[in-house]
Amino acid sequence: MATDGSDPIPPHKTFDTILVLDFGSQYSHLITRRLRELNVYSEMLPCTQKLSELGWTPKGVILSGGPYSVYWPDAPHVDPEVFKLDIPILGICYGLQEIAWNHDNTNVLAGEKREYGHAYLKVERHGDASTGGHVNALFKDLEDDMEVWMSHGDKLSHIPEGFVTVATTDNAPFAGIAHREKKLYGIQFHPEVTHTPKGKLLLKNFAVDICQAKTNWTMSKFVDQEIARIRALVGEKGQVIGAVSGGVDSTVAAKLMQEAIGDRFHAVLVDNGVLRLNEAQIVKETLTKGLGINLTVVDASERFLGRLKGITDDPEKKRKVIGNTFIEVFQEEAKKIAAAAHNSEHAGEIEWLLQGTLYPDVIESISFKGPSATIKTHHNVGGLPATMSLKLIEPLRELFKDEVRELGTNLGIPEDLVWRHPFPGPGIAIRILGEVTPEQVRIAREADHIFIEEIKAAGLYRKISQAFAALLPVKAVGVMGDKRVHDQVIALRAVETTDFMTADWYPFDGEFLKKVSRRIVNEVNGVCRVVYDVTSKPPGTIEME
Ligand code: GLN
Repeated sequence: MATDGSDPIPPHKTFDTILVLDFGSQYSHLITRRLRELNVYSEMLPCTQKLSELGWTPKGVILSGGPYSVYWPDAPHVDPEVFKLDIPILGICYGLQEIAWNHDNTNVLAGEKREYGHAYLKVERHGDASTGGHVNALFKDLEDDMEVWMSHGDKLSHIPEGFVTVATTDNAPFAGIAHREKKLYGIQFHPEVTHTPKGKLLLKNFAVDICQAKTNWTMSKFVDQEIARIRALVGEKGQVIGAVSGGVDSTVAAKLMQEAIGDRFHAVLVDNGVLRLNEAQIVKETLTKGLGINLTVVDASERFLGRLKGITDDPEKKRKVIGNTFIEVFQEEAKKIAAAAHNSEHAGEIEWLLQGTLYPDVIESISFKGPSATIKTHHNVGGLPATMSLKLIEPLRELFKDEVRELGTNLGIPEDLVWRHPFPGPGIAIRILGEVTPEQVRIAREADHIFIEEIKAAGLYRKISQAFAALLPVKAVGVMGDKRVHDQVIALRAVETTDFMTADWYPFDGEFLKKVSRRIVNEVNGVCRVVYDVTSKPPGTIEME
């Protein structure tokens, strides 16, 4: 709720915040990420953000890189008000060029040589009184020679009035600039990527020394603030409903609600018949007995499996049927809970719907997509219909995934759940290729259970980002107990990835695969072969349907 006045205590009002203005670089979110790793709170907004509409004052501003050239007629430019704010500004790549251009619009040109990849940076220090100590501040505690990572084609032709050069490379004579009087800095390289090994220290110098931002962004602080925020938002009697899946995001969100408003939060778990083996039962135990969450489990497996019957061709149909049935079941349950709430004298009507939206979803919807592309307004993931006319409450919308995990640990959620691999909404229905029948569900579940159990036993669960067994819609011949069998084939899939946009298959050793294969063929009735999927993403997807 970056600029939404309805939110009583958003983090940027309580934590010192560095604002990243995004010009569309693929690394912009990493700037925010690195700052938070330094315990400095940071938020990202599109470069077109009007400062008069911001409603809060950042401790410092970072202008990101971007794919445009500042001298293009339709190039994006920052609101010039930012230069009047008297707060420190750091421009990175396009951001540096934007600062220079803003001071003198003749000094950015297309370079003769593009520069992508590693470069050696020479830091220039200015000791004399005329330039003042702050021009050296960005490179404090850094060596005079630094390895940096570049990705640019344009460069400064001359230094703008009032600035000094603080770093150079062979190809970029103005790889770092600083204003003599104001706290205005620009660097041509990218400190936010890991290819600039000391980049994080440079960002720390900017945020902590130059901007004087407090390093108080910690999850335990966030928990207290967030609980206060939820209480203020929902009020004394307000009630909230939300779906949980047993995944880390919905569990953490639910636990936070429970801490804030107790039983006035109603969690609903829809058993769609295509959850993992014993999952509904396990989630129920953990959430109710373990975490004290007010949970209703709705067993709708027959309704779901009934509707999945006969769908053999198009996986999209499965997804739709499951999505629509989910909404139907959830709404029915919500009505029942609302009726009970209405009759209770202790609490008000249900007005709120909990959503487990994370910061990457928010970033995706606000990141700057270019002068011609309209910026998408934020859409909420989760797909519950507007007809429910509930207000949204999204306690995780400021957090990255690893922050959610840390928060989960802080809230006492068991390790197993905090590190749970992602599981798709349509469940194992999209891991059963072809028709989903109760018998196919049994086979896929049992095989998956064995695979995951062995991954955990081998200590590989956290190394692997996502793993599962899929059931292929084919039959193969085998011999079992001297008898010819004609049974089904299980495909194992396990991938490593950091962002789920690209992924590589996990290189298990042969002994491991041998063991898993032997167990599945022996223990799961109906399977006579096991194969391992060695397709990376792209061209493959992580799920099979
Ligand atoms: N388009 C600009 C250039 O090529 C900025 C590039 C960037 O920000 N990575 O120099």
